[in-house]
Amino acid sequence: METYTDLLTAITPVSGETRTMLDPATGEIVGEAPVHTVEDLERAIASATAAQPAWAALGHEARSAVLLKAADAVDRSAEELARLLSREQGKPLNGPNARFEVGACAAWLRATAATELAAETVVDDGATHAQIHYRPIGVVGAIGPWNWPMMITIWQIAPALRMGNAVVVKPSEYTPLSVLALVHVLNQELPEGLLSAVSGGRDVGARLAEHPAIGKIMFTGSTATGKAIIKSSAGTVKRLTLELGGNDAGIVLPDADPKAIAENLFWGAFINTGQTCAALKRLYVHEDIYDAVCEELTAVAAAMPMGVGLDENNMLGPLQNKAQLDIVARLVEAAKDSGARVLLGGNPETGQPGYFYPTTLVADIENNNPLVAEEQFGPALPIIRYSSVDEAVAMANGLDVGLGASVWSADLDAARSVAARLQAGTVWINSHGGVDPRIPFGGAKQSGYGLEFGVEGLKALGVPQVING
Ligand code: NAD
Repeated sequence: METYTDLLTAITPVSGETRTMLDPATGEIVGEAPVHTVEDLERAIASATAAQPAWAALGHEARSAVLLKAADAVDRSAEELARLLSREQGKPLNGPNARFEVGACAAWLRATAATELAAETVVDDGATHAQIHYRPIGVVGAIGPWNWPMMITIWQIAPALRMGNAVVVKPSEYTPLSVLALVHVLNQELPEGLLSAVSGGRDVGARLAEHPAIGKIMFTGSTATGKAIIKSSAGTVKRLTLELGGNDAGIVLPDADPKAIAENLFWGAFINTGQTCAALKRLYVHEDIYDAVCEELTAVAAAMPMGVGLDENNMLGPLQNKAQLDIVARLVEAAKDSGARVLLGGNPETGQPGYFYPTTLVADIENNNPLVAEEQFGPALPIIRYSSVDEAVAMANGLDVGLGASVWSADLDAARSVAARLQAGTVWINSHGGVDPRIPFGGAKQSGYGLEFGVEGLKALGVPQVING
């Protein structure tokens, strides 16, 4: 079993250019990350290409057995992985944070191993017999963000491996150590060369997206980068799954119980300190219960401890990087300048180490305010008052993104009928943002295309082949 120091040593480069990664909560050094180059990428793609046929030939059952062993390896190193993730990303160990994320990696590997994708018979009428099979693609590229670096990497690579592909991962330059450590642990069980992480910058990501030996890109990140990847992958007509940015709306109907929903509303918006793709980012509350919802949500939010990740008491952490802190600060200032009412927070301390922004709730804000219209990706939630459900639905659908949404009500049928009118890949009822390896997940509009998880997620990592006859 590896200690934390062993794990860090195993991923620390012995030569080549490195970048010093700092803890976003304290500014302390976490470790040295390699700065891989396009030449390193070429080597990783060559190894993946060489390892893939034998892996594909193993068949589903044997590959699933290896994924189960890889899940056990994650469990064995869970605490060390969680500590490294906490230090590099900033998220606390406890709550729905670092330990939760590492646990989800093992759970997703197991669930992916257990998911069956049989050949589908589409016609069998005596005269015609046609079946769809899903064949391995070959080598898949996985490009990920910094907010849930381990979990999102697993979401991309588990179905890719399960379907008989090799994978080259390009982690975010903000959180390379977390992904390198995860890949190191998985490689304790995987055949050599099948999975590797190339920890480079945007040039490496761009080359991966255009590389002729890569059959598919799994991308999770911003809408702007997603568009760049569509362009660079066009020359080779690559398959793409794009999980892009969101600005999820929640609509609280007038019959909801403010006290009963306050805690779920809070975690829907503030999970991972708001740095979550499908977090609740705009809350629309009916005027009849507006003040009560504001009051209950403020009570929950004010009691939630924020601080350094390794402190076992904390539930919220810093922003992962200065650029994101600046975005949140700018958007809250825009809200204040417009005369919106700050219920909580909005007053970052200066001169302290760490990229902390306090938990912030902003009421009496107009729908066209930048804090509503732009993705804040941090701990600041605008709460907008509405008087008719039609108006709320129109505001919720008014942006060009549509990852998730939620409806909050005591009446499930009423909530479902509002849900059906929302332009979003997932609509949750009385919660927001929960994902499940059995349930497909993906975006509408400019939040991307393609589904992850479950049988649909496996299909996305295979080439459909029809056998007619
Ligand atoms: P980002 O788009 O800046 O970076 C993501 C990755 O793309 C990084 O690894 C980066 O190096 C790489 N990259 C950058 N330019 C590239 C290029 N031209 N070609 C190829 N790769 C390139 O995103 P981020 O700031 O790390 O993440 C935050 C964003 O991700 C938010 O908008 C958030 O909503 C979104 N996100 C979406 C989901 C989802 O499931 N839909 C999940 C998490 C995050």
